[in-house]
Amino acid sequence: MALMTGRDYIESLRELQLEVYFMGEKITSVVDEPMFQPHINTAAMTYELAHDPQHQEIMTATSHLTGEKINRFTHVHHSIDDLVKKVRMMRLLGQKTGTCFQRCVGLDALNALYATTYEIDEKNGTTYHERFKKHLRHMQEKDLMSAGAMTDPRGDRSRRPSEQKNPNAYLHISKKDNDGIIVNGAKAHITGAINSHEIIALPTRAMGENDSDFAVAFAVPVDTKGIKFVFARQTNDTRRLESPMDAGNPKYAIVGGEALIIFKDVFVPWERVFMAGEYEFCGQLVETFAGHHRANYGGCKVGLSDVVIGASHWVADAHGVAKASHIIDKLTEMIAMAETCWSCSLACSYEGRKTQSGSYNINPLLANVTKLNITRMVYEWMRLSHDIAGGKIITLPSESDINLPGIGEVITECFEGKEGVIVNDIFKMLRLVENMSVGAGLPEAMHGAGSPAAQKIMIARRSGIERKRELAETIAGIRTDENFEKIVGKPEEEYWQETKEKIKLKPR
Ligand code: SF4
Ligand code: FE
Repeated sequence: MALMTGRDYIESLRELQLEVYFMGEKITSVVDEPMFQPHINTAAMTYELAHDPQHQEIMTATSHLTGEKINRFTHVHHSIDDLVKKVRMMRLLGQKTGTCFQRCVGLDALNALYATTYEIDEKNGTTYHERFKKHLRHMQEKDLMSAGAMTDPRGDRSRRPSEQKNPNAYLHISKKDNDGIIVNGAKAHITGAINSHEIIALPTRAMGENDSDFAVAFAVPVDTKGIKFVFARQTNDTRRLESPMDAGNPKYAIVGGEALIIFKDVFVPWERVFMAGEYEFCGQLVETFAGHHRANYGGCKVGLSDVVIGASHWVADAHGVAKASHIIDKLTEMIAMAETCWSCSLACSYEGRKTQSGSYNINPLLANVTKLNITRMVYEWMRLSHDIAGGKIITLPSESDINLPGIGEVITECFEGKEGVIVNDIFKMLRLVENMSVGAGLPEAMHGAGSPAAQKIMIARRSGIERKRELAETIAGIRTDENFEKIVGKPEEEYWQETKEKIKLKPR
């Protein structure tokens, strides 16, 4: 068993022969493509930090299958401590990369399938869980990265999967035989897809009996015959081809390197199929996956906030206003919002519970609240970062103009700050704020792990409104208040009768 380093991971991608398209071209080498390299470097951090003695405790775990030390990104959580360490790992990686490090979607898919396959087998006498454990062991032993592929294109969203005019609107089983299944369709917006070793596909929604062909979960290597990837555009993405300074975060990415994955007659052997028709478990699988993923957002996005808050303070300081009361106020607002989201992530982890399979799940209500807060607060703290940065973040000249003899010196003078601050550093920091706050990171905070409406459905479903009504009825005196009766030592009716008599006696 080997824990890969960042370099090992990058080199391991060379062995994969996947079919990727980007901006009208077929990409021959993913690893050598400058448009992809920042994403790959970011995912590599999930490997590299597992070797750092300072971070090993949260970046690695002990496999419950083999007892071996593994990267936490391949671990099935088996305690509250595991859940807490997972979100700590998310915050750490956000701090180290300033962007989405992609590997969490696969991790959450592994955890959701571990718990759900166990329950399918318990009910139906199938053998999915044992198959899945074999796959998990393979992932752990080879230290692989999975692209968690959940979202289907979904066509007409008022129609169920089986009612769609185009069946490819949802990934589905076209054929089953003794050897395995053939699948067709697509998965959209898949984070880290082109730089993963495996794809782990899950259904995207709850399904009915007529949708059983769409109730499918499986794992395949990314270079399986019939799979094609189309890498998505991101705001200012080609700047990384123009100048590292203009790119803002040139070493790492803008967001998660999302791609469309197209499946055309893809064969999946039975040993890699973890659901094939059990439509009644789709809702549970989706909910478990979404819960794990929504819990992460108070970790990864708060890690990014640490970077943006640091950058905002740096910029204010470079311009001589770090001590101005309105700057301190804005930074404090940013910190308070970020730590609120962090508290949510910690809370849903500490309130986790053991599943039937023995693995641990986060508290789903609190995980959905975590993500809903993120959809609002990331916009708010990024708004404050713009406020502090000032107009320069949208009007900076390009690096080529700054370096142009004759005019470069004049530009540099115009962008000077406090004495002693290197002007190029001001450019770099403002570009970083721009990269993190203006681009695709904002809608990703909104829609990644599901849109706010999806979180509200879950929050409403799990809010326990009936219990809240009972509480109100008890306090209002509509329902018997046993504790009150114990406190006053008599039935409530009798108590009020006596009290009313006493009140009447009092002069008003
Ligand atoms: Fe991980 Fe956050 Fe990216 Fe989702 S958005 S894959 S949780 S870093
Ligand atoms: Fe995401």
